[in-house]
Amino acid sequence: MISDILQRAADGGRISPEEALLLYTDAPFHALGEAADTVRRRRYPDNIVTYLIDRNINYTNVCVTACKFCAFYRAPKHAEGWTHGTEEILHRCQEAVDLGATQVMLQGGHHPDYGVEYYEELFSAVKQAFPSLVIHSIGPSEVLHMAKVSGVSIEEAIQRIKAAGLASIAGAGAEMLPERPRKAIAPLKESGERWLEVMTQAHRLGVSSTATMMMGTGETNAERIEHLRMIRDVQDKAVANGYTVEADLAGTVGGFRSFIPWTYQPENNHLKGRTQATSLEYLRIVAVARLFFDNIAHLQSSWLTTGKDVGQVSLHLGVDDLGSIMLEENVISSAGARHRSRLTELVQMIRDADRIPAQRDTQYRHLRVHWTPADDPTDDRVQSHFSSIAIPGGGTGRSIPLTPVSS
Ligand code: SF4
Repeated sequence: MISDILQRAADGGRISPEEALLLYTDAPFHALGEAADTVRRRRYPDNIVTYLIDRNINYTNVCVTACKFCAFYRAPKHAEGWTHGTEEILHRCQEAVDLGATQVMLQGGHHPDYGVEYYEELFSAVKQAFPSLVIHSIGPSEVLHMAKVSGVSIEEAIQRIKAAGLASIAGAGAEMLPERPRKAIAPLKESGERWLEVMTQAHRLGVSSTATMMMGTGETNAERIEHLRMIRDVQDKAVANGYTVEADLAGTVGGFRSFIPWTYQPENNHLKGRTQATSLEYLRIVAVARLFFDNIAHLQSSWLTTGKDVGQVSLHLGVDDLGSIMLEENVISSAGARHRSRLTELVQMIRDADRIPAQRDTQYRHLRVHWTPADDPTDDRVQSHFSSIAIPGGGTGRSIPLTPVSS
């Protein structure tokens, strides 16, 4: 039974949520990984694994939503609340561009005063100063929040921020989409259905996105698979309706370009790390995701939350993208993610997994393929947490020491 399901999935057939759950809980690990990697090899016969250079820039940590897993936010009027002005954000964009970044992820809390106008001004300023820098930012939660603050529809909010320069919506805020675990960890956040509804509207309006999953806050195995099902169903509709016209390298259309699972980090938040996902649970969901998402082209693993060795192992379980070098990251790092890397190391990790590294852009187009080691980048200045308020020693524009490889 399990071997039949694995064979069908490896051959490109669709598997049901029930079958995905069975594979997740019971399939032999090596057989599961082999099937997932078979799918990756068929989709990407060039054996390329991509990475991105980008910077997560936070405009404020003030937030009214108070998610229990979040270590980043401060309630309005809290003494540790802060905002960054446009000038500071542009300074950080300049640093990112100087280090070869092609994308910025502007990310922040649900500030009670930030409506659509704030984002229009911010995105316009970034695009005016850096026309070629891609803004892959905010998530459905922020769209809902800004629409509410400004008293406009979701559609109008998306159209206006798209016109101001937003190219892609981040899959942020998905956490766990099923109702029970979502309410348990983020009771003030929109429902999972609503999160998907905003994504659908964005896809319909020509703004594609990623999709994420945060695992490890006490959700059941069935709820993890249900999260995948909810995303796959929405992607099915996007494909059927012809939403977004961009065809990626694998020829797939649809609103979600990639799926990115990551693990909850235990420090400085209300959940206090009482539950956490193990590395094996993470790797199994990665493999199942590759088999289950026959309609989403790319699968990205999260070395930031799982560690670099788990990230590298994931490349043998169907993953074709190792994500970003993340010149700056404060949200997950505030909750305890201490893994750091540099561009040269990330490329070597891909090469050591017997894959060909390539720098990509937001839409997964290859910018530089490092066909041989002689083509590998050598600039050691390009490193994660180049600037960070979450890691001791981090500061704008300062190079700070790397921690050893660990997971
Ligand atoms: S995860 Fe986002 S919405 Fe939730 S508290 Fe943190 S900053 Fe606010």
